[in-house]
Amino acid sequence: MAGLRFMIVLDGFIPESSTGVEVAGVKIPTAFASKIPAIRAEVRSIKTFVGTMNRTLGGQELSLSAKYHICYHDEDPTKPCEPARDI
Ligand SMILES: [Zn+2]
Repeated sequence: MAGLRFMIVLDGFIPESSTGVEVAGVKIPTAFASKIPAIRAEVRSIKTFVGTMNRTLGGQELSLSAKYHICYHDEDPTKPCEPARDI
């Protein structure tokens, strides 16, 4: 059976912005922060749909993953990133 393999990888670092809006404890540019509720809603919708399809079809790999974390990779001195959280 043919199907559409739907893969999205969005791995981007959004630096702090002193004039931005606080999201999950970090101030980020307002232009991006304002998009997060819509992005989050769509990602969750896709996860729900794909998860339902995977359960219905059975045998499909459970590859649902959409996460974010507070990233400190540029901190000096270095500091570990916070644990990844589901979107
Ligand atoms: Zn990180």
